[in-house]
Amino acid sequence: MSSNNYPSPSRVLVIVAHPDDPEFPAAGTIANWTAQGVQVTFAIVTDGSKGSPEPGMTSAQLVAMREVEQRNAAAVVGVTEVLFLGYEDGRVVNNTDLKQDCVRLIRQYRPDVLITHDPTARIIGNQRINHPDHRAVGDAVLDAVFPLARDRLNFPEHEAEGLEPYKVLDIFLTGTNEPNLTVDITATIDKKIAALKEHKSQIGDPEKLEERMREFGARSAEGTSFHYAERFRRVQLPG
Ligand SMILES: [Zn+2]
Repeated sequence: MSSNNYPSPSRVLVIVAHPDDPEFPAAGTIANWTAQGVQVTFAIVTDGSKGSPEPGMTSAQLVAMREVEQRNAAAVVGVTEVLFLGYEDGRVVNNTDLKQDCVRLIRQYRPDVLITHDPTARIIGNQRINHPDHRAVGDAVLDAVFPLARDRLNFPEHEAEGLEPYKVLDIFLTGTNEPNLTVDITATIDKKIAALKEHKSQIGDPEKLEERMREFGARSAEGTSFHYAERFRRVQLPG
């Protein structure tokens, strides 16, 4: 499947575990969309409070830094709405609270495309252990899509708040072993790299990051006519 088949939605909702999780796998695709006027919202589940090896860094400092970094990175790819759910980094479990938060977001934003982590990937490419927060968030989001957000008797208090049930039909999963969609990001790879460079606390040497992202983008485009690509597992549910 090539980028010719990827949708032009009106609204996209991204629900991911940590600051920088929207950008690494999907910033090019997101920048393609925002350039066409698509409304994209980021919901970051955790506070990112554990993501630093730096001696002397405190979690409180890190949370504040990473929020600013995430807002700046989002702005580079044309995303102005960034929500922080404030769950503790490294401790996410797929429980009723998290599911309810995801259902609320889905009923509120009513996305044509939803982006989240592939929770079925325990090991990625036989080279990486997927972060447990990614799996927990991916699971909660998919549980929220089906059946929770769809059926009005789940979290019925939402109805009283004016939030109607909603069916998400198109899901892009990141960090997957089973990609079935390759999106051309040749036009937006520079923006993707610029966005990632805003995550200063996370990326180390920016030049090396740039090199790595170009390699990764080129490798993702193998077998297509694109120079750079992002790959997703796209799940399309019947309407
Ligand atoms: Zn992450």
